[in-house]
Amino acid sequence: MSYPYTAPVSQTLFDRASVVTPGGVNSPVRAFRAVGGTPRFMVSGTGPYLTDADGREYVDLVCSWGPMILGHSHPEVIAKVQEAVARGTSFGTPGEGEVALAEEIVARIAPVEQVRLVSSGTEATMSAIRLARGFTGRAKVVKFAGCYHGHVDALLAAAGSGVATFGLPDTPGVTGAQAGETIVLPYNDLEAVREAFRAHPGEIACVITEASPGNMGVVPPLPGFNAGLKALCAENGALYISDEVMTGFRTSRAGWFGVDGVEPDLMTFGKVMGGGFPAAAFGGRADVMAYLAPAGPVYQAGTLSGNPVATAAGLAQLRLLDDAAYERVDAVAAEIGSLVTESLTKAGVAHRLQTASNMFSVFFTEDAVTNYAEAKTQEAFRFNAFFHSMLSQGVYLPPSAFESWFVSTAHDAAAIERVAAALPAAARAAAEATEEGK
Ligand SMILES: *Cc1c(COP(=O)(O)O)cnc(C)c1O
Repeated sequence: MSYPYTAPVSQTLFDRASVVTPGGVNSPVRAFRAVGGTPRFMVSGTGPYLTDADGREYVDLVCSWGPMILGHSHPEVIAKVQEAVARGTSFGTPGEGEVALAEEIVARIAPVEQVRLVSSGTEATMSAIRLARGFTGRAKVVKFAGCYHGHVDALLAAAGSGVATFGLPDTPGVTGAQAGETIVLPYNDLEAVREAFRAHPGEIACVITEASPGNMGVVPPLPGFNAGLKALCAENGALYISDEVMTGFRTSRAGWFGVDGVEPDLMTFGKVMGGGFPAAAFGGRADVMAYLAPAGPVYQAGTLSGNPVATAAGLAQLRLLDDAAYERVDAVAAEIGSLVTESLTKAGVAHRLQTASNMFSVFFTEDAVTNYAEAKTQEAFRFNAFFHSMLSQGVYLPPSAFESWFVSTAHDAAAIERVAAALPAAARAAAEATEEGK
C-alpha cells in the first residue's frame, strides 16, 4: 500500500538506527513492520500529544504502551523527578522512596502483603515464576496462548504482543529445556486447565495469566475464569500468578484485582507504577515472599532496583491517581471507543470493540474474541489501512491490530475532537482495504 505522507526526518533517523540497532528499534512493537512504513521518532510529549522529529503533532493513543496514564510531562510528576535527580541518581543502598512506593502498592492492593521492586515487567514475571518454583518445589508453569509476560525464556511460548504481531511461532534461542516445562493452554478455557492438572499431578508450580489480557488485543476473562483458575490452583497446590504489568494501577485504583476481586498468590506490576521510568514489582502472600533472598533461599537481585528517580516518578504518579482520575480515564476510553464503533459501523466495516475498563481495542471481525485463535481470524489488513489514515491525520495508534489502545486523564475535549475528526476517513480506508493492498 502507499502511505499518505512521508516523514523525512524520522526516515533519516530510522536509516541511522538501522545501521547500529537490529531493525532500527529497541523493542519490536515500536517498528512498523506489521503496518508498513517508517516508525515515527518522537521528540517530546505534552498532555495527550506527541511531537515527532518532523514537527508533526499527534494525539497519542498508545501512552508509552500504558505507563503515561496522566498524559505526558505531567507537571507534578516532572517536579518530583527533578527534585529526586537533584539529590543524586543511584546509591546502591536502600532508600526511603522505595519504602514509600512499596507501602503505596501494599495499601492499594489487598493480596499484596509484601513486594519486591525490579526494573521491568519482564524481570517481575521471571522472578515471580522462579519464586513459585522455589516455593512449591515444582517445575511446570501453565500459561495461556496470546498472553505476553515479557521476554522471559520460559514464557515465550505462544506469547502475545510483538510475538503475536509478527506471527512468530516460537523464538530461536529458547531451548527445549527452557520452554519444555511450560504448558500453553487456550485462554478462557478452564476445562483445559483442569485437564493439565489431571495430566501432571504434583508437577505444576503455578498458573500465570494476564489479569485481563491486552497483548493479543483486549480479550477480557469470561465471567468466573480468574476465580476458576484460583480455585484450581488452590486445589492442586499450585500458585496463581496474576500478571498485572499492564492492568495494574490502570484498570482501577487496584488494577484488575479492583475489578474482579479474585485474590492471587503472587502479582506482577510495571508500566503505570514507574511513571514513565523503569520500575516494576512483584508481590503477594507474605509466606511466599519470605522465600526470597535475603529473607529466604530463592535468589533475586538488581543493581538499579528501587532506583530513587524511578520510584519518585512512580510514587508521584500513583498519588495523583485518585478515584476522579480513574473516572476521567474510563470516560475518555468509553467516548473514543464509541466514536470508533460509530465511524466503522457507518462505513460498513465488520468490527468488534472489546473493552476491559479503560483498556480497549478493535478487532476487524464480527465475532466476539475470547482467545488468541479467534483474535487471529480478524482482517488485520483493514487495521493497517485504518492505522495509516489515522497517523496521516495526526492520531498515533499502536502499530498493530493485536495491541490495546491506551488513554490518559490528559485526553481532553480538544484531543477527543481531533480523534473524532480523523475517524470517518480512516473508517473508509478500512472499508476499502484489500488483503493484496497491504
Ligand atoms: C508489558 C508487559 C510485560 C513486560 O514488561 P516490560 O517492562 O516490557 O518488560 C509483562 N507482562 C505484561 C502483561 C505486559 O503487558
